[in-house]
Order: sequence, then structure tokens, then C-alpha cells
Amino acid sequence: MNSFDAFKDPALCRALLDRLRAEATEPFRFMEVCGTHTVSIFQSGLRSLLPATITHVTGPGCPVCVTHESEVACFLELAGRDDVVIATFGDLMRVPGPKGKSLKTAQADGARIEVVYSPIDALAVAAANPGRTVVFLGVGFETTAPAVAATIRLAREQQLTNFRVLCFHKLVPPALEALLADPDINIDAFILPGHVSAIIGAVPYAFLADRYEMPAVITGFEPLDILAALLEIVAMRQSGQPAVVNAYTRVVADDGNPVARAVMDEVFMPVDALWRGLGLLPGSGLAIRPEFAAFDALGLPGVALRETPPLAGCRCGDVLKGKMAPNECPLFDKACTPATPVGPCMVSTEGGCAAFHKYKLDL
Ligand code: SF4
Repeated sequence: MNSFDAFKDPALCRALLDRLRAEATEPFRFMEVCGTHTVSIFQSGLRSLLPATITHVTGPGCPVCVTHESEVACFLELAGRDDVVIATFGDLMRVPGPKGKSLKTAQADGARIEVVYSPIDALAVAAANPGRTVVFLGVGFETTAPAVAATIRLAREQQLTNFRVLCFHKLVPPALEALLADPDINIDAFILPGHVSAIIGAVPYAFLADRYEMPAVITGFEPLDILAALLEIVAMRQSGQPAVVNAYTRVVADDGNPVARAVMDEVFMPVDALWRGLGLLPGSGLAIRPEFAAFDALGLPGVALRETPPLAGCRCGDVLKGKMAPNECPLFDKACTPATPVGPCMVSTEGGCAAFHKYKLDL
């Protein structure tokens, strides 16, 4: 048995589930912030095994899903330029934008788009296209931002003059604060994202317990991690002492990863950012610092965020805020399927709607 198998051990899972069934006598709703947790909860079958007292709500933790309509429109506008090559992770290719267009349809119409597996690969695309500007689409949370920051620093060292980043990175703690400030949000506890926490640590979440008395547990992605986190939440509710618990100490240090944070701080600065469904959240995004302005795609002539209407009929915003289960959207599995996605939550592998579609036997 390797160390990953140990965190799936059926006998241990059964024992924790039995404890959870015995101890979770008071009803509560927990939101997992991270899309990888969403998928794991379905994939492992946990969703259908949890006690009836526990309601599971999907949250805003899919970076593709929270990318705002205006940001998608900006990608498409850049992709339409003859002098630009877009470099992007593949998960953005099918995200619907205005009039149902996507990077995939733009590519079919002749746009130059290269799918890369790391931001550093985009530097090779720039080197291979000296007559064009290569724009890397910087989308993601604190997990991906350090690698993008390091790539910008490397581009400066290499004196690449035709490489830029369209920086729409987002920060998780301000989004949680915005959720809790919404009087219509009905959440009793958070399961916090393991990958993001590996970078930022536990400290930036302290406000959840201090100001909102909200139990929250950082945990991993295996079934035992999730069950142990739920037992922590039950214990906190019973004791009446909410806290932010780091239960993923095999990966997450309380102070996160200082090296990753340092490169992020060197290249990026916090700004207000647009989130799909959540709107403009103060201090929730990252912009490229003026010292690195030569690598900022928002500095290219004519490139700007322009107000874009939401996708007609799509309820992704309500899904991301936990106000509606994906299968309650009137379009779910009718007009909107993974083959014909109306919104990003059906496109992304970490999207709540895609997870509900794929694992619908568990509903
Ligand atoms: S089912 Fe489709 S249209 Fe409805 S919320 Fe999900 S992605 Fe949006």
C-alpha cells in the first residue's frame, strides 16, 4: 500500500463514516471552496454516503468558472488580432464568451492559439514567433500565480520583448469574505483548498473564525482527508469554538510557501477584480506591477476590460455562490451539457455542473 492508498483505506473510511453518522446529529451545510475537492467528493462516492444531516454545497473554487464574462471577451478580442499568438492552458479553450464564441471557435476561425502545459512553455512560443506578440492568459488562484510571476521574471532576464501576460489571477480569501458578507448565503462551515493553502498557509483565513465564527478546515483530497475534516467541523460545532484548522500538515505549512509568495509579491500587486457571479471584489485580484509593465498585456494599445453582458440563461453565478445546486439550473442536462456548454461550470473539469453531470448516478 503506498501513502496515497492509505488515505483511501476502506476500513478506515468506514470507521470515520460511522463516527460521522453518530456525531453529526445537528444539521449543517458545508461548502468546499476548491473544485478539486468537489470532484473528489463525487469521485470517491462520499457525497452519497454522508449522513443526511450534512448538506454538501459546491463553491467558487474553480478558476475557469470564476473568470468573468468580460475577461473571456478580452481573451477573444486579443485572439482576433493578426499580430497576436495566444498561449493558454487547455481548460480555457471551450469557455463560452459573448455570442457563444470561445477560444476553440476563434481557433477554427484562424486565430493563432497554442495550448501550453506550463507558463514557461509560453516563452518558447514567444521565441518561435519573433514577429508577433505572444500573450499568455494568466488565469487561476494563488496556486498558479507564483509560476506565472516566475515566468515574467524569466522573460525579463531573457529580454524577450514579444511576451506578455493577460493577468486575471484571483485570490481566494477575499472571495470567502464576500460570500460571508452576503446575507443570502447559507453556509455553516468551509472546507478550505489544499493547493491554494500550500502557497498562502493558514493565517490568511483567520478572519473566518475571528470575525464570522465560521469553522474551517484545510484538508487534502483523499476520502480520509475529507472525512477527517468533516469530523473536525462537527467537533467545533459541538464545542462552540470555531477555528481555522490545518489538517493537511503533510503539504501545508501554517505560513505557506514563503518563496512562492515572494515571487508573487515581487511581480504582482493586489487589485480589485471581477468574479463571475460575485461581481467586483476589493483586493481580490492580482495585477502586474509597474516595474514589469513591459510584460502586461493590458498595456497593449486598445486592450481593456469592457463591460460584457452575462450569458443568457446561465446560472453559474448562483452555483458558484452555493445558492443553487447545479442540477437545479433549468438548462442543466438539457440545453447545457459538456458537449454543448452554456456556462463555464459545465466546461471545466473542476466545475460543479460538470461534476454533477458526470457523477449523476450519485445524486
Ligand atoms: S447547467 Fe450550464 S447554464 Fe446552468 S449553471 Fe451550469 S453551466 Fe451555467
